[in-house]
Amino acid sequence: MPGIKALISGAGIAGPALAYWLARYGAQVTVIESAPARRTGGQLIDIRGSGRDVIARAGLAEVVRAARTSADGLSFVDARGRRQASVRADGFGGDGPVTETEILRGALVEILHEATDASVEYVFGDRVDALDDRRDGVHVTFAKSAPRRFDVVVGADGLHSGVRALAFGPDGARLRHVGYYLSFWTARNTLGLCDWTEVYSEPGRTIGARAVNGNTQLMAFLSLRSAPFRYDPRDTAALKTVVRSRAAGMRWHADKLIAQLEDTADFYFDACSQVVLPRWSSGRITFLGDAAFCASPMSGHGTTIALVGAYVLAGELARAQGDVAAGLRAYEERLRPWITRVQRFGQHNGRTMTPRTRAGIAFRRGVVALQERLPLGDLLLRDQIRLSNGFALPDYTLYERTRP
Ligand SMILES: Cc1cc2nc3c(=O)[nH]c(=O)nc-3n(C[C@H](O)[C@H](O)[C@H](O)COP(=O)(O)OP(=O)(O)OC[C@H]3O[C@@H](n4cnc5c(N)ncnc54)[C@H](O)[C@@H]3O)c2cc1C
Repeated sequence: MPGIKALISGAGIAGPALAYWLARYGAQVTVIESAPARRTGGQLIDIRGSGRDVIARAGLAEVVRAARTSADGLSFVDARGRRQASVRADGFGGDGPVTETEILRGALVEILHEATDASVEYVFGDRVDALDDRRDGVHVTFAKSAPRRFDVVVGADGLHSGVRALAFGPDGARLRHVGYYLSFWTARNTLGLCDWTEVYSEPGRTIGARAVNGNTQLMAFLSLRSAPFRYDPRDTAALKTVVRSRAAGMRWHADKLIAQLEDTADFYFDACSQVVLPRWSSGRITFLGDAAFCASPMSGHGTTIALVGAYVLAGELARAQGDVAAGLRAYEERLRPWITRVQRFGQHNGRTMTPRTRAGIAFRRGVVALQERLPLGDLLLRDQIRLSNGFALPDYTLYERTRP
């Protein structure tokens, strides 16, 4: 591993996490990001089970714990705001519907960048234009920088990965729509929520708010059940119009939250899609995180699988001692069965957040209320908790050269 030159496209979560582990095993790492600076946008993301173990092994548990948002729990409310059933964050070993480790995406991006800044080369405002995989390595042409050769290239550039299209062609990945769209935006805390989340559902649509930033702000969100429709992910104004029209007429405090869309500092909208690649690698080019195996935000595991994937990819490359093809094969063989289970879970979990019918909403309320009362309530979420903790991290400490 020492001396191996790695290029990672994408400086979100998966890219810097992989850079961290590769640098620790002695690789020379370059991360290229199309945005002009760190993209610290986004709302709350969960770090569950095996993902939390990766953070601990990286020695980042304390700093992540300090940056967590405080979250005591979540209530499902009716149109008049009455809390009908609730779950607490400290239940379910911290891996329930509200996890103990919820952190603003931007805070995690900052932590991962700061852990790697001294040992990794970051290039912002540039992108890979062409890849030529030859015997001596991958010859990479960039939009702006001079061409360079790398031993391995990793596409960690998200759901709409540009590197994936270059390596596999525009139709090389199947995007599987799981039937929902999700939007998040920051709002003032006009609901007076304190370390708590409230969720209101009507058939096929759910709106909610979660207190963040010392309860000064809300992370508002809307989840829609919908057949696929065309949209431009960069046209924020058009996407806000979609959110407004789809949430029109919703009761509870929907109007107050929607009114704040206009001047929100932070807005996210995307289809809940999964990426299904027949194989994760082609020659010396491979994929990680959403670019390789997005499970959709509905899975609640996107960040967890990105972190675990980064740990395993770096570890298997280190174990392979320069045989990149063997390392990439082992990465997929080890990880794919668990990722497949997470994706299966993500395909169905949207129904819990946004039931299709009034009966479905009532059923969810009943189940959550039952779980509040019965000591055996944890059994209801047993499968999800097992899934979050379902990947046993291999030990790669033997290959460590340095601690970034
Ligand atoms: C701005 C933003 C906000 C988000 N907000 C949320 C949220 O609120 N809730 C949620 O559940 N998930 C959110 N996500 C998705 C979430 O971060 C991922 O699902 C998960 O953490 C896996 O991370 P990833 O690194 O694989 O992908 P991402 O976090 O999406 O990171 C991919 C990175 O690649 C960069 N990139 C894209 N194309 C190129 C290219 N051609 N060349 C170089 N770089 C490129 C992007 O700018 C980004 O920095 C958001 C993602 C982004 C980029």
